[in-house]
Amino acid sequence: MTRLLFERALSPTVPVVGEDSEYPVNRIFCVGRNYADHAREMGFEVDREAPFYFLKHAQALVQSGTTVPYPPGTANLHHEMEFVIALGAPLFRADKDRVMDAVFGYATGLDMTRRDLQQKARDKGRPWDFGKDFENSAVLSPITRAAAFGEVAGQRIWLQMDGTVRQDAKLSDLIWTVPDLLADLSHYYHLQPGDVIYTGTPAGVGPVEPGSRLRGGVDGLAEVELTVGAAE
Ligand code: MN
Repeated sequence: MTRLLFERALSPTVPVVGEDSEYPVNRIFCVGRNYADHAREMGFEVDREAPFYFLKHAQALVQSGTTVPYPPGTANLHHEMEFVIALGAPLFRADKDRVMDAVFGYATGLDMTRRDLQQKARDKGRPWDFGKDFENSAVLSPITRAAAFGEVAGQRIWLQMDGTVRQDAKLSDLIWTVPDLLADLSHYYHLQPGDVIYTGTPAGVGPVEPGSRLRGGVDGLAEVELTVGAAE
């Protein structure tokens, strides 16, 4: 018998709303510039030819309601409020008309971003990982089953920081819809149950500070909350 040298990192989980069950998170896909107003505030027009993505490690996930330290290596940590898809079945090379059956449910999430590192990388044509994929950077609410949420339509998506509304839009503002994204991603990956997709943020992103309290929601879903603690 060989022995395991140290304890393996466990897959993080989030609760399912109204159930005594936990959803184990596998991979975290994130969509870039999926709201026209946000693309514009970042200095871009939306690329309507194809969506683009980046990923975060599952270990970057933190459950809603947590206090996390202000992360290292940045002086410009930003909030990005997002609508999140949680898969419950595999998808590979799937057409848009059959991808919705694979959706387990939806959640609200924060794609926390070290904006200074992301922009430096972007300007040099380097990968975004250091700006996007760091500890506690993927905040996720409990998941609501798809049937309980219903159709993705004009639900409001919003974020408050310290009680002030910073982001406020509608899911109908999404450029690439849930079926668009799932069908597209399934042509590049063997999508699996446990894979989650952060669908991009509306306009109004901005910096947070130690002590900031974030609270965000989408009509019909559990809210996501995060408190930013002191830098380590
Ligand atoms: Mn984002």
